[in-house]
Amino acid sequence: MLLKWLDVLRMARIANLNPDRKVTKTDDEWQAQLSPEQYYVTRQHGTERPFSSEMCSLFEPGLYACVCCDTLLFDASEKFESGTGWPSFTQPIKENAIAYIEDTSYGMSRVETVCNTCDAHLGHVFPDGPPPSGLRYCMNAVALKKVKGGAS
Ligand SMILES: [Zn+2]
Repeated sequence: MLLKWLDVLRMARIANLNPDRKVTKTDDEWQAQLSPEQYYVTRQHGTERPFSSEMCSLFEPGLYACVCCDTLLFDASEKFESGTGWPSFTQPIKENAIAYIEDTSYGMSRVETVCNTCDAHLGHVFPDGPPPSGLRYCMNAVALKKVKGGAS
Protein backbone atom coordinates (compact mmCIF):
# COMPACT_ATOMS: atom_id res chain seq x y z
CA MET A 1 0.00 0.00 0.00
CA LEU A 2 1.23 3.47 -0.89
CA LEU A 3 0.83 5.99 1.91
CA LYS A 4 -0.47 9.43 0.96
CA TRP A 5 -0.99 12.64 2.91
CA LEU A 6 -4.59 11.77 3.92
CA ASP A 7 -3.35 8.45 5.36
CA VAL A 8 -0.66 10.31 7.31
CA LEU A 9 -3.20 12.81 8.68
CA ARG A 10 -5.61 10.04 9.62
CA MET A 11 -2.89 8.17 11.54
CA ALA A 12 -1.67 11.36 13.24
CA ARG A 13 -5.16 12.40 14.32
CA ILE A 14 -6.90 9.10 15.02
CA ALA A 15 -4.61 6.10 15.46
CA ASN A 16 -1.28 4.79 14.28
CA LEU A 17 -0.88 1.25 12.99
CA ASN A 18 0.44 -1.39 15.36
CA PRO A 19 4.18 -2.02 15.02
CA ASP A 20 5.54 -5.55 14.54
CA ARG A 21 7.29 -5.27 17.92
CA LYS A 22 7.88 -2.68 20.62
CA VAL A 23 11.23 -1.69 22.19
CA THR A 24 11.12 0.19 25.51
CA LYS A 25 14.18 1.40 27.39
CA THR A 26 14.80 3.87 30.18
CA ASP A 27 16.30 7.26 29.50
CA ASP A 28 19.56 6.13 31.15
CA GLU A 29 19.74 3.07 28.90
CA TRP A 30 19.25 5.18 25.76
CA GLN A 31 21.85 7.67 26.92
CA ALA A 32 24.37 4.87 27.50
CA GLN A 33 23.70 3.33 24.08
CA LEU A 34 23.64 6.46 21.90
CA SER A 35 26.11 9.21 21.08
CA PRO A 36 25.22 12.62 22.60
CA GLU A 37 23.98 13.88 19.21
CA GLN A 38 21.94 10.74 18.55
CA TYR A 39 20.44 10.98 22.02
CA TYR A 40 19.59 14.67 21.58
CA VAL A 41 17.81 14.15 18.26
CA THR A 42 16.02 10.85 18.85
CA ARG A 43 15.11 11.03 22.53
CA GLN A 44 14.87 14.80 23.09
CA HIS A 45 13.22 15.73 19.78
CA GLY A 46 16.20 17.70 18.56
CA THR A 47 17.01 18.73 15.01
CA GLU A 48 20.48 18.45 13.51
CA ARG A 49 21.87 21.33 11.49
CA PRO A 50 21.02 21.09 7.77
CA PHE A 51 23.79 19.81 5.49
CA SER A 52 25.51 18.28 8.53
CA SER A 53 25.63 14.77 7.09
CA GLU A 54 27.04 13.24 3.96
CA MET A 55 24.03 10.90 4.07
CA CYS A 56 22.02 13.61 2.25
CA SER A 57 23.88 13.10 -0.98
CA LEU A 58 24.25 9.32 -0.79
CA PHE A 59 21.92 7.47 -3.09
CA GLU A 60 23.44 4.00 -3.24
CA PRO A 61 21.09 1.03 -2.93
CA GLY A 62 20.50 -0.18 0.59
CA LEU A 63 18.25 0.12 3.57
CA TYR A 64 18.03 2.62 6.40
CA ALA A 65 17.27 1.51 9.96
CA CYS A 66 16.44 3.31 13.19
CA VAL A 67 19.69 4.13 15.01
CA CYS A 68 18.05 3.25 18.34
CA CYS A 69 16.38 -0.13 17.70
CA ASP A 70 17.56 -1.32 14.24
CA THR A 71 14.03 -1.47 12.81
CA LEU A 72 14.14 -1.01 9.03
CA LEU A 73 12.52 2.31 8.10
CA PHE A 74 13.40 3.23 4.51
CA ASP A 75 14.69 1.73 1.27
CA ALA A 76 17.25 3.86 -0.57
CA SER A 77 15.09 3.53 -3.70
CA GLU A 78 12.60 5.89 -2.01
CA LYS A 79 15.29 8.49 -1.27
CA PHE A 80 15.37 11.70 -3.30
CA GLU A 81 17.29 14.96 -3.45
CA SER A 82 15.09 17.53 -1.72
CA GLY A 83 17.69 20.28 -1.48
CA THR A 84 16.76 20.85 2.18
CA GLY A 85 20.01 19.57 3.70
CA TRP A 86 18.28 16.66 5.41
CA PRO A 87 17.97 13.15 3.99
CA SER A 88 14.54 12.90 2.37
CA PHE A 89 12.40 9.92 1.46
CA THR A 90 9.02 9.68 -0.21
CA GLN A 91 7.75 6.47 1.39
CA PRO A 92 8.61 4.25 4.39
CA ILE A 93 9.65 0.65 3.86
CA LYS A 94 6.46 -0.62 5.54
CA GLU A 95 3.27 1.25 6.31
CA ASN A 96 3.55 0.45 10.05
CA ALA A 97 7.28 1.28 10.39
CA ILE A 98 6.67 4.90 11.35
CA ALA A 99 4.16 6.54 13.70
CA TYR A 100 2.74 10.02 13.15
CA ILE A 101 2.03 12.72 15.73
CA GLU A 102 0.47 16.15 15.17
CA ASP A 103 3.05 18.75 16.18
CA THR A 104 1.90 22.32 16.79
CA SER A 105 5.14 23.58 18.37
CA TYR A 106 6.74 26.81 17.13
CA GLY A 107 3.32 28.06 15.97
CA MET A 108 3.30 25.65 13.02
CA SER A 109 1.05 22.73 12.24
CA ARG A 110 3.30 19.84 11.26
CA VAL A 111 3.33 16.06 11.45
CA GLU A 112 6.15 14.60 13.50
CA THR A 113 7.47 11.16 12.56
CA VAL A 114 8.72 8.71 15.17
CA CYS A 115 9.97 5.14 14.97
CA ASN A 116 6.86 3.03 15.63
CA THR A 117 8.99 0.43 17.42
CA CYS A 118 10.91 2.56 19.95
CA ASP A 119 9.35 6.07 19.63
CA ALA A 120 12.62 7.67 18.48
CA HIS A 121 12.08 11.13 17.00
CA LEU A 122 13.05 10.93 13.32
CA GLY A 123 11.89 14.22 11.79
CA HIS A 124 8.72 15.45 10.08
CA VAL A 125 6.68 14.52 7.01
CA PHE A 126 5.33 17.10 4.55
CA PRO A 127 2.84 16.90 1.64
CA ASP A 128 5.24 18.41 -0.93
CA GLY A 129 7.18 15.33 -2.03
CA PRO A 130 7.43 13.80 -5.50
CA PRO A 131 4.69 11.62 -7.06
CA PRO A 132 3.17 9.11 -6.74
CA SER A 133 2.90 9.45 -2.93
CA GLY A 134 3.50 13.21 -2.77
CA LEU A 135 5.16 12.74 0.61
CA ARG A 136 8.48 14.13 1.84
CA TYR A 137 9.90 12.46 4.92
CA CYS A 138 12.44 15.01 6.16
CA MET A 139 14.75 12.99 8.38
CA ASN A 140 17.61 13.67 10.73
CA ALA A 141 20.59 11.70 9.43
CA VAL A 142 21.78 10.88 12.97
CA ALA A 143 18.46 9.12 13.64
CA LEU A 144 19.18 6.68 10.80
CA LYS A 145 21.85 4.15 10.03
CA LYS A 146 22.59 2.66 6.67
CA VAL A 147 22.27 -1.09 6.57
CA LYS A 148 24.19 -3.03 3.97
CA GLY A 149 22.50 -4.76 1.09
CA GLY A 150 19.66 -4.07 -1.28
CA ALA A 151 15.93 -4.54 -1.00
CA SER A 152 15.00 -7.41 1.28
ZN1 LIG B 1 13.48 2.70 16.66
